[in-house]
Amino acid sequence: MQEQVQLLEKYFGYQQFRPGQDAAISSVIQHQNTLAIMPTGGGKSICYQIPGLSMNGTSIIISPLISLMKDQVDALEALGISATYINSSISTQEQNKRLYGMQAGKYDFVYVAPERFESDYFIQAIKRTYLSLIAFDEAHCISQWGHDFRPSYRSIIPNITRLPHIPVIMALTATATKEVIRDIQQLLHISDEHTVHTGFERKNLSFHLVKGKNKQDYIHSYLKEHQDESGIIYAATRKQVDSIYELLHKAGYHVSKYHAGLSEKERQEEQMSFIHDKTTIMVATNAFGMGIDKSNVRFVIHYAMPMNIESYYQEAGRSGRDGEPSDCILLYSPQDVQLQKFLIEQSDMEEEAQQKEYRKLQSMTNYCHTHSCLNLYILDYFQSEQDNASATCNRCSNCTERKEKLDITEEAQMILSCVKRLEERFGVSITSKVLKGSKDKKIMGFRLQKLTTYGIMAKYTEKQITEQIHFLIAENLLSIEEGRFPLLKLNKNSVEVLKGKRKVTMFSSPIPTNESVDYNTSLFEELRNKRKELAQQLELPPYVLFSDTSLKDMARYFPT
Ligand code: ADP
Ligand code: MG
Repeated sequence: MQEQVQLLEKYFGYQQFRPGQDAAISSVIQHQNTLAIMPTGGGKSICYQIPGLSMNGTSIIISPLISLMKDQVDALEALGISATYINSSISTQEQNKRLYGMQAGKYDFVYVAPERFESDYFIQAIKRTYLSLIAFDEAHCISQWGHDFRPSYRSIIPNITRLPHIPVIMALTATATKEVIRDIQQLLHISDEHTVHTGFERKNLSFHLVKGKNKQDYIHSYLKEHQDESGIIYAATRKQVDSIYELLHKAGYHVSKYHAGLSEKERQEEQMSFIHDKTTIMVATNAFGMGIDKSNVRFVIHYAMPMNIESYYQEAGRSGRDGEPSDCILLYSPQDVQLQKFLIEQSDMEEEAQQKEYRKLQSMTNYCHTHSCLNLYILDYFQSEQDNASATCNRCSNCTERKEKLDITEEAQMILSCVKRLEERFGVSITSKVLKGSKDKKIMGFRLQKLTTYGIMAKYTEKQITEQIHFLIAENLLSIEEGRFPLLKLNKNSVEVLKGKRKVTMFSSPIPTNESVDYNTSLFEELRNKRKELAQQLELPPYVLFSDTSLKDMARYFPT
């Protein structure tokens, strides 16, 4: 590895490798297909750049993000390394010129979009190139279990196996569950032995969960305290991006925006202003950010809950790439769950894939209700084996804002026995209505007021009861089925609580208050009319599908 350390110093000016870099590099140099899983900002690029420099031949880097290739190539060229990129943003003539150059061995690194492999012309060109390495950056895109599956990534594989001289293959990613890791390993023939996993923990990130506050007020006060710091605000929809952008723009902030509704040129401009610090805040949908290398992002605020933990961790992880302390803030309201369910429901995924998304959404929802350490919750989700992890991070909002500990064993027992009385045939909403003793139409319709558990928690508000039910789910003291209408089910732990063998405590936390609701009335009417149609498709009675309340919730996301 002596030679590699010298290359590191000569080209990049760094004295030593970061954890995992040396193992990944030496594996590749020994011509072993290698998978490197390192957190965002962990230094994955160097893992293919150093082997590329020390082997004869050209390295091809496959990356899903065309907009970043130019930057990556410019950065290498500035270091005196010959590199180029080939994608749809350059003319055919220029593409051909670069392909010729590649065959002549002119470049050490060629960045390409996965779609290139669909072109015969390109395949012929790489057949005539002496290739040493093919690197799959953002390799989770290859797995359909990943959160960002790209079929074009997968179709590259048969093309590689047909090459006259098969180069060594490297895969790199920052977000992968065990399932995705296994998938990548199988598809690219990578053994456990040549998989380098440094764990996912980002010690400089502090996770915060904000509930029951007006989101806009929160953003205003946060920004006031963090003047001139660079940060990203992720919103759920384009409309939401536009309205937050307007708000901040009017308040005098230097702000950019990014979503798929803008032209390619506009997006480029907005992205560049942010990356080059001409603006300090980027308001964007999740279309923004993959592979972005901006080191001084001090905070990432999610205006609404994302669809799953993978997306959340990847988006939040765009802060603090320089290793300095940074904030990851999620502004949660229960309505966020409705929107995500709606999006899953509307997607054209197959049944099995949809179930999987619901399950992931449930884990994301649990994150918003757990009272354990948020950092550990995420690491557990990725089943990351952390030798050095302690039970609390002492950075996240759950660790630092712990208040009084309340014994809610009795309440838990009431909730669980109600689930039992309801014969596990209902979800969170009906169950809390029964416990509250609500006179809601549905309760009367099902004659649930006759149950012995009807009204036994009348002294709480329905919101408080719901919060406690979600807490029990998050702590696995109660199970919830997957699907559009998840039913509550008792589990082993519930039985222990019911028998009094287990105490339940929760930290007192602010119970979500009603935010002032501002919804798009015409969209609400439209959804209302569409409700029947949707229900017919799914062969369900309309009221089971979308209540007026949940339609209103959806309409909130699309302000007038
Ligand atoms: P990612 O894993 O997210 O792809 P990058 O490869 O973009 O991360 O690297 C993140 C930052 O870390 C870059 O600025 C890079 O120059 C820096 N870096 C990488 N390796 C080292 C090292 N061994 N020592 C110091 N800085 C490093
Ligand atoms: Mg990278």
